[in-house]
Amino acid sequence: MEYNHILIRFGELTTKGKNKKDFIRRLKENTKHALVNFPNVKIESQHDRMFIVLNGEDAYDVCDVLKNVFGIYSFSLAKKCEKNIDEIADAALAMIREEDESKKFKVVARRSDKSFSMNSDEINRYVATRILVNSNFKVDVHNPDIKVQVEIRPDCAYVLTKVIMGAGGYPVGVGGKALVMLSGGIDSPVASYLTMKRGIEIECVHYASPPYTSDRAQEKVLELARKLSGYQGKIKVHVVPFTDLQLEIYKHANEAYPITIMRRMMYRIAERIAERNNCLAIVNGESVGQVASQTLESMNTINSVITMPVLRPVVTYDKLEIIDIAKHIDTYELSIQPFEDCCTIFTPKNPVTKPTIKKAQSFENWDYESMIEDCIANTTTIVITPKKENSNLF
Ligand code: ATP
Ligand code: MG
Repeated sequence: MEYNHILIRFGELTTKGKNKKDFIRRLKENTKHALVNFPNVKIESQHDRMFIVLNGEDAYDVCDVLKNVFGIYSFSLAKKCEKNIDEIADAALAMIREEDESKKFKVVARRSDKSFSMNSDEINRYVATRILVNSNFKVDVHNPDIKVQVEIRPDCAYVLTKVIMGAGGYPVGVGGKALVMLSGGIDSPVASYLTMKRGIEIECVHYASPPYTSDRAQEKVLELARKLSGYQGKIKVHVVPFTDLQLEIYKHANEAYPITIMRRMMYRIAERIAERNNCLAIVNGESVGQVASQTLESMNTINSVITMPVLRPVVTYDKLEIIDIAKHIDTYELSIQPFEDCCTIFTPKNPVTKPTIKKAQSFENWDYESMIEDCIANTTTIVITPKKENSNLF
């Protein structure tokens, strides 16, 4: 079966009223970026749907890419035909032949061109008869396994069968931009994915502590960003040299507080990098109860150093639920590679689980401000794209 079109349905977009135009424009742009390796495709958008004109590109390869584009609710492989009932019936027959003959079908015709010589019911009967006479498929109008859809439009007709579910959500970018604190762990890539799914574009900040953390550990984070970049085209990763500040923290905090102070510093730096890059929120992979720094007391003590909103998409998820998503987005195997991150190296034996703001402040009685600014001044920004060779350093 030679498909020549893919029909894309928007789902959630249709509920967005006056913003709809922006959404569709963004979805079209994002889809175009995602399909960069298919130079012949053309994208045509209408007010309630979008068509990909394949122009000879492989339909199934294009489908694989479309599954990762947020804002697409579902899509179907389609054949565009002349408005000729025999051509339509033949296309329907060829399409259903790809299915198992034990399945039951129903033909559903829709006419937006009322001048077409047959009405919907006549089209249904004509196409169904063509299938019944030439195959062993049977009809079930109440509970069909396959719906053969025929659409008669003013300029042409479409025939389609399978509905493939898309990634859902909103097109990345319609919801503004946020800065994700990206570690090499399991949680923050999942938090990134869920953020992009709500239509929010992301940049990432990663705190590196060489030589305590290795080049391989950083490479792993960039590989995670590469996986995530498939959802939005490219991702900027700001790598912050964190070693000096981290060592200084240990000189000033007692046994129990270094992690709390370290995270307060991370938040301070993240807020400034976010502001300087027009990000309106910070995102991280914190989940209540997972580790000492993720109690509500800790979150309060850490969060109090900044005013920018902090989004925690996985805050109420069980680890197993997070792992399921990590596997679904193919970041899990990378995340469990055993490279030390800056938290694991400096973890004290008995970190405080109920820190207070007052106590934390008492360990910050030194000039951390200038060290924070040094961290930011020495930050390297790397642009990551889905294909390795396209990434660059600037
Ligand atoms: P993850 O699996 O995402 O690493 P975690 O369970 O290990 O999370 P923590 O190490 O306490 O939890 O970190 C909580 C969150 O803080 C992470 O999800 C991430 O958003 C952020 N974070 C931790 N370490 C770093 C780092 N080196 N660079 C950037 N962000 C970090
Ligand atoms: Mg971690």
